Amino acid sequence: YGPAPEASTDVEAWLESRGRVFGHFIDGSFTGAGNASIEVENPATGEVIARIPEGTEAEVNAAVAAAKEAFPAWSRLPGFERARYLYAIARHLQQRERFFSVLESIDNGKPIKETRNADIPLAIRHFYHHAGWAAAIDTEFPGHEALGVCGQIIPWNFPLLMLAWKIAPALAAGNTVVLKPADLTPLTAIAFAELLVEIGLPKGVVNIVHGGGATGALIVRHPDIAKIAFTGSTAVGREIRRATAGSGKKLSLELGGKSPFIVCADADLDAAVEGVVEGVWFNQGEVCCAGSRLILQEGIADRFLAKLRARMERLRVGDPLDKSTDMGAIVSAGQKARIMGLLEGAKAEGYRLEQSSCPLPERGRFIAPGFFADTEPSATVSQVEIFGPIAVTMTFRTVDEAVQLANNTSYGLAASIWSENINGATELAARVKAGVVWINATNIFDANAPFGGYKESGYGREGAREGMLGYLKRSVRKAAPAEIVP
Ligand code: NAD
Repeated sequence: YGPAPEASTDVEAWLESRGRVFGHFIDGSFTGAGNASIEVENPATGEVIARIPEGTEAEVNAAVAAAKEAFPAWSRLPGFERARYLYAIARHLQQRERFFSVLESIDNGKPIKETRNADIPLAIRHFYHHAGWAAAIDTEFPGHEALGVCGQIIPWNFPLLMLAWKIAPALAAGNTVVLKPADLTPLTAIAFAELLVEIGLPKGVVNIVHGGGATGALIVRHPDIAKIAFTGSTAVGREIRRATAGSGKKLSLELGGKSPFIVCADADLDAAVEGVVEGVWFNQGEVCCAGSRLILQEGIADRFLAKLRARMERLRVGDPLDKSTDMGAIVSAGQKARIMGLLEGAKAEGYRLEQSSCPLPERGRFIAPGFFADTEPSATVSQVEIFGPIAVTMTFRTVDEAVQLANNTSYGLAASIWSENINGATELAARVKAGVVWINATNIFDANAPFGGYKESGYGREGAREGMLGYLKRSVRKAAPAEIVP
């Protein structure tokens, strides 16, 4: 893997050919580029690489109107016809995997190793998977129908993958969409919109409006929207819940997390160390389900941390486009400042931060991977989502203590358990309050497994049958009279 030189050149050529200024995608056309006031930066260099507009009320209204107009025809298409479009999206993305990987790495700062191996292939898989649901919709969901126009708001940590999680099930079920990407990372959504034009998706079925929170709030409040699907912070999730209360809008919220990573005394410690690399340092720790609380059984804790230190020193932090890079740049200066503030606060409280001594590039927003050794469960850093490459560490003696520590946050998104005793691990898994529990693994995402959280991690599930049901309602239409076969 790794970008072929021509792939980065392709991305540069693509940006240049559009003058590095982009608009919304409304009713099949690109519009609003004249007001492109938001600067999009490359997090690895701090350079401005493009500009996008801040969606206005008139633009959000136009996008919703286009989606509303497209809905009757799209929802009435036989499922297999919608499946053909979803297959075409998947195939076209697959043909351009390299281009999308490089573009995502430049826009978000994440290493090419990840975009090539995770973000883009998982997004493609999501469209293939949901093409299957579309084709089988009548037999799998009899008596159900699409909702209407869906408003979808996504974060910056997995831009194209979150777009796929939102758009694929909505379209498969027969809905039309107004989606807002995060203003920090809009570029793969723009290339995706161009791909929709190419495959001939009917106008208005997917509309993409750019902008920040104010534009998102306009979508949330729009009366012609039947459902809001949101992924982002718990604070904004709460606001959206308030804003939609009593409106009759269906809602799904995928919010933050502070997931436990439990290492039992009988675990394969080397495998568990690799799990931390995947669970905490993947995507610079900017992962909602990051296993960022290391809960270690006494007896192996010191040995485990010694191994972890050695492994951490070998991680390479730097140029996202270098295929040997393990960790890239933090998405923005603001996000880096937020993380550093939390780290400084914890240090001031007396907690000891250990970080890799790996060299960091001078430019850009980089943070070395690390962990706090011995954190109190009540410490701010043990409770608040850091959303950066730093874990906290605590120890337990008995399984009951492990359960108590694991459940001791306001979140409940994911958990990871490491043990060679599979019976013990499954019993422990059942007692941890989390939407997904991985055993001897972490961060496994499959389109066929529903994802979502308990408590302040949100509600509703995305993926699989549960995810499809989130985009359907019981049909009020009478069943068609049985066909009389002569
Ligand atoms: P954020 O909540 O600030 O922004 C998310 C999206 O919401 C962005 O598109 C933003 O423009 C928009 N937005 C902001 N204010 C809004 C408002 N008042 N009304 C409508 N839309 C609004 O979060 P972020 O900083 O972009 O992302 C990081 C957070 O997202 C983390 O807390 C992380 O845990 C969470 N996250 C959760 C999941 C999940 O699946 N549960 C996945 C990825 C990220």
